[in-house]
Amino acid sequence: MKQPVRVAITGGAGQISYSLLFRIASGEMLGADQPIILHLLEMPVALEALKGVAMEIDDCAYPLLHDIVMSDDLKVTFTDVEYALLVGATPRGPGMERNDLLRINGDIFTKQGKALNDYAKRNVKVLVVGNPANTNAYIAMKSAPDLDAKNFTAMTRLDHNRALSQLAAKTGSRVTDIKKMVVWGNHSATQYPDISHTTVAGKAAKELVDQEWIVNDFIPTVQQRGAAIIKARGKSSAASAGYAALEHVRDWAMGTGDNWVSMAIPSDGSYGIPEGLIYSFPVTTKDGEYSIVQGLEIDEFSRARMDATQKELEQERDAVADLLA
Ligand code: NDP
Repeated sequence: MKQPVRVAITGGAGQISYSLLFRIASGEMLGADQPIILHLLEMPVALEALKGVAMEIDDCAYPLLHDIVMSDDLKVTFTDVEYALLVGATPRGPGMERNDLLRINGDIFTKQGKALNDYAKRNVKVLVVGNPANTNAYIAMKSAPDLDAKNFTAMTRLDHNRALSQLAAKTGSRVTDIKKMVVWGNHSATQYPDISHTTVAGKAAKELVDQEWIVNDFIPTVQQRGAAIIKARGKSSAASAGYAALEHVRDWAMGTGDNWVSMAIPSDGSYGIPEGLIYSFPVTTKDGEYSIVQGLEIDEFSRARMDATQKELEQERDAVADLLA
């Protein structure tokens, strides 16, 4: 049997965690032969609720789960962890501007980045889910100078999955028939779900749908899906976000084969995206490393949308620059 790995999840008593933790503990993320120790972080006010979640996890008697560590202390949470899923973040309150949100969460992610730098395993893989996810990941990465920047990522997998499911419904196909989907940029309404390179059962997706549907239906539906779920459900998406987080880490750790997935990662300058910006790219993964899919032709339509989401990320980065000074 393998040695247990320590997996940290912040915001452990929140909605997303309520679906995510049970699946991680069952082995769905790191495999059925990988024992796990969960490290759950919460704010002091939510520690009692976190205890309740832990009681439920205990009651599942998961064979792979060796222990649950609960704390409001970053050192306890991040010591020796090999995976860190940063889910907890302050939600936007009434009257709060986007910049206020960036700065409040900037403070949280500066501290978490520093603590990961000081206490986590050197190969820790970090996924930021809490919004604004790309910029929170950027802040954590910059606050952790001793760790490899490549280990800081943010989640656009839910956007990717939403795009797959919309295209499958439109073309009457199965999601498994769809290959080479791409989501570029920020996990926000400026993201660019791109089917220029996508195939459906081997045929170019762009030959199966018209441009009018792409522009006026597909792109806005994927961009606005979170808001549509809040409207219908009265609460934000949680189980789908939790599942996407699990898939992001699972695929990063276990490999994608030649299947493309979207991950927001520090740019290496590919496709003209400024180096270091946490931008969503199409990637494949192997042996715990991701590589950006190279050589895609970018037409004018795509470039304009890739530029718009890049610009938003640069503005977010500039708005928090003084926190990192
Ligand atoms: P959720 O578990 O529903 O969401 C957590 C974060 O994930 C939010 O920032 C949310 O952003 C984000 N998110 C990213 N993608 C998605 C998506 N597709 N759909 C929905 N959410 C998405 O929030 P809760 O309020 O239920 O729980 C948060 C928990 O975090 C609380 O228990 C709180 O105590 C804790 N917390 C912990 C902190 C810490 O440990 N230091 C700091 C702050 C909070 P958005 O809201 O924009 O949708």
